[in-house]
This record gives sequence, C-alpha cells and structure tokens, in this order.
Amino acid sequence: MAKILIVEDEEQLARFVELELLHEGYEVSKAFDGREGLLMAEKENFDLILLDIMLPGLNGLEVLRRLQISNPTPTILLTARDAVMDKVSGLDAGAIDYITKPFAIEELLARVRVALKNHPNIRADQANENAGIIGGSSDSVSSGKAEKANGKQSEGVYVWNKLVLDNKRHEVHYDGHLITLTNREFLMLETLLSNMDIVLSRDTLLMQVCGYDYIGETNVVDVYVRYLRSKIDDVYDVKMIKTVRGVGYVIRSEE
Ligand code: CA
Repeated sequence: MAKILIVEDEEQLARFVELELLHEGYEVSKAFDGREGLLMAEKENFDLILLDIMLPGLNGLEVLRRLQISNPTPTILLTARDAVMDKVSGLDAGAIDYITKPFAIEELLARVRVALKNHPNIRADQANENAGIIGGSSDSVSSGKAEKANGKQSEGVYVWNKLVLDNKRHEVHYDGHLITLTNREFLMLETLLSNMDIVLSRDTLLMQVCGYDYIGETNVVDVYVRYLRSKIDDVYDVKMIKTVRGVGYVIRSEE
C-alpha cells in the first residue's frame, strides 16, 4: 500500500487529512515543520508527499528543491488561495500538482489517487526485484492506456462519449455537430474534462475559469455549468456534468 507523508504545520488539518488517508488504506506519516519533513522524506521512500508551502523551519518550496536533489518524490503542494507565485514556483521546482486551501477532502483524495496512478514512485529496491529472474506475467501499469475512449486522447484533445473537445482548434463537437461556446464556457468544460473523475470544488473551477484575481460572485461557476448543460446535456439528452452536493462538479468517465 502506498506510503504518504504529510508535511503541514496546522496540526488539526494534518490529523484530519491523515485520518481520511488511513481510511482509504494508505500508510501515513506526518511532520509538522519543514526541516522534520525533509529529514523524513530523505530517510524513507514515500510514494507521495503532501507538502504545505508556509511552514516553520524550512518552507515547502525549499523542502521541495532540496528533495529534488537528495530523494525526488512525487509531491502535491498545499497552497494558500491567492499565492499564485507559490504555485508557479512550486510547479517549476518539480511538484506534480497543487491543491488550494481550503479544499474539499474529496478533491484531495481524488488528486492523491491520480498522482499515485500517474507517478508511480519506482524505488531502486523494487526495480531490482521486478528485474529478477522470475520473468512471469507482466502486469504492467501502463498509465491509463487500458481505459479506452473517455478522457485525454491526444495532446489537447479530450473525449467524453460522443463529445470531443479540441483545445488547439478551440472547438467542441458532439457527434460531429459543432457546439458554440463562449471562452469561459470552453475553459470550464476543458477544466472538467482534463480532470475527469476528479470532483472539482467551486473555488477550483472559479480560479481556472475566471483567474486567481477574480473578485465577485462565486455562483458564476453554477451559472456556467447551467449554460453548458443547456447547450450540451439538454440538446443531446445526456448527463455530462454531475453535481456533487456540497462539493462541486465532475465529469465521470464511466457514464
Ligand atoms: Ca502552514
């Protein structure tokens, strides 16, 4: 089972996330400051690190940078809502994803699942074992290749049943019919399709669609979802965008 390290100085939050992850069956360790977190991550091989940026001792970005040199480990950053620079520097420093606080636990768990699937942390000891003489069945974990149809089909092209969104052409088709969307509707749909099966909170969607510095009604997200439904769901008699009560929205591949 995957081993996850939480580095977070808000102890209550760390404990809450720990409980949720334990409940999902992961092995969990915690550190409450940057220096301790770095030590633990260098000593032990974790499959994934959830790393807060604002940390006492050593900040998260510094932990990330040092770890890239000493023991690179897939890392999801936990960032404050308006710290755009943190996100950019974090991704530059090698983080695979970030999640903005406050977050819905369902969204965090989904991102953890995706991260573990897409970034299997093959450790040296495991690699040697796998390369052993047994050479039996190869249950290779080809990332998502087995799942056909729905999801990302090629660079910038997303498919959900008969719907195809092509980012480069900035076009959406349903069963060959062109659907005319505004920029924000397009962005919203692309965000949901590129995060297929991940429940996105209204905050996350708002930031993706309206930008980090958007000030205004948060219900614009619901408004855009309504527009998209009226242009797609209602016309083609499908239920594409699902509402997850109290959390946000998701497009599921298995529909
Ligand atoms: Ca903090």
